[in-house]
Amino acid sequence: MKISQEIITQVKEANPIEVVLGSYLSLKKAGKNFKALCPFHNEKTPSFLISPEKGIYHCFGCGKSGNVFTFMMEYNNLNFNDAVRTLAEKAGIKIQTTASNNENEELYKVNEFAAEFFHSMLLRNKQSPAWSWIKSREIKESTIETFMLGYAPVEPIILEKAKANKINTRDLEKLGLLSNGRPAFRHKIIFPIRNRWNKVLGFGTRVLDDSEPKYINSMESAIFKKGNILYGLYETGKFLKEEAILVEGYMDLITLQQAGINNVVASMGTSLTETQAKTLKLYTDKVTILYDGDQSGIKAAERAIDILLSASLEVKVLILPDNEDPDSFIRKFGKIDFSKAQSFEEFKFKNCATVEEKSALIKNFQQTLAKIPDEIRRELWATEIAHKLNINKKFLLESSQQNLHLIKRTVNHKNMETLETELLGLASSSPKVSELLIKDSFNPTTVELKPFFDMVYNGAKCSDLLNEITDENIKNIVVTAGLSLENMEDLEKMVEGYINSINKIKKNIRKDEIRKIIEKGTVSEETLREYQQLINS
Ligand SMILES: [Zn+2]
Repeated sequence: MKISQEIITQVKEANPIEVVLGSYLSLKKAGKNFKALCPFHNEKTPSFLISPEKGIYHCFGCGKSGNVFTFMMEYNNLNFNDAVRTLAEKAGIKIQTTASNNENEELYKVNEFAAEFFHSMLLRNKQSPAWSWIKSREIKESTIETFMLGYAPVEPIILEKAKANKINTRDLEKLGLLSNGRPAFRHKIIFPIRNRWNKVLGFGTRVLDDSEPKYINSMESAIFKKGNILYGLYETGKFLKEEAILVEGYMDLITLQQAGINNVVASMGTSLTETQAKTLKLYTDKVTILYDGDQSGIKAAERAIDILLSASLEVKVLILPDNEDPDSFIRKFGKIDFSKAQSFEEFKFKNCATVEEKSALIKNFQQTLAKIPDEIRRELWATEIAHKLNINKKFLLESSQQNLHLIKRTVNHKNMETLETELLGLASSSPKVSELLIKDSFNPTTVELKPFFDMVYNGAKCSDLLNEITDENIKNIVVTAGLSLENMEDLEKMVEGYINSINKIKKNIRKDEIRKIIEKGTVSEETLREYQQLINS
């Protein structure tokens, strides 16, 4: 699938970089730019700069830079097309999907075939044990259709069907649907796992009796990475905007959806991963955790809280009575009262009888608060929790203190090429600087930089230069210098400083040259005078 340049530009314009990155990071205004803690490397003081004007970001710590698309790709583990599609969806821009030559496309087709096959196997016999299981769970036929539920028969029918449909059995092996030439799933209920764009990534399966393990997923493949995927996104993705309800299993999600609660996603039994939390953040800002009422459900909720908070999500928790899961609870009582959901700190708060219990609780809150990237929200929560625990809030914030530091730039001790490259970055980011250089007839000594200075003198901007410069080091210095412009108060003085430093280096180079000529004994009267002047200046 190829997305046109026109659409890419449209999507980029509809998604200002500070809005997109601001939904993940806590941004601090720094003049025309924003600063944040870098999400790509560990740091305590922010060295990640975002320039809304230029539509770029750059980290002075680890050197990562890019635009909204590269950020979505890196941060959310997406490929370019999915990054564009995700941002397009946020902005309500429709993208036509056309056939693709992507090698994974073949695997998606095979999974699609398998999903349809399993689905037809469930529907073909309404006297079967599979159908009885479906009925015992009160699953409606419309729900079977919505989620494309299926049944994997005991007999190897899938092999015949694959042959008839010209499906390569090697691909079936690759996707974990065949194992040593035999169907991998036999006598199981099948839940196809689809992504937001209706591609079948893999399958969840369930036994028909109470034998363990009840649920098994198909194995990981080129297109199925369990820790990255949330179940239900195709079916429920469009309902998540206001708030998402996070459950553990397929059946929890399906029963809730059947009861009219559409804004649900499932972490598929595994404990929630950071990638899943980040994926969720693509769809919503608020999450209510709805887990089982047993000890392991409560433990899983505790872990999920920290992971969701660190993805900048607002978190509430609703724990069901002991021995109930959302599926069984809905079937028994018909609905769930979500107004009973607690804030994460209410959920974590326990009555502490002893000093040890209290200090353990404080430590627990310390760790949780440290995970909240947004400083304001962290402060607000800390105030509330400190009040409840009757302690000073500085204890809670101890491990999450962050000090802003200014990016210092020293003009000294840099070589000519670096100075001139920085000047190029500054000029490409400020018409004022470029004007001053033109007035000064500045011409770089570094030959490679000459065409870029010409571009800038003709009105090219920083982002234009980035398309032309191939040298990574030069690119890096240009972006860095351009972004740091905010810290420069007096542009004229700064340009003067640069030119003076460059001239000083030029003089030193010339002095060295003449000294060599003098040593050879071939120096002219005129050169000697020049040398005198250089020494005196
Ligand atoms: Zn970084």
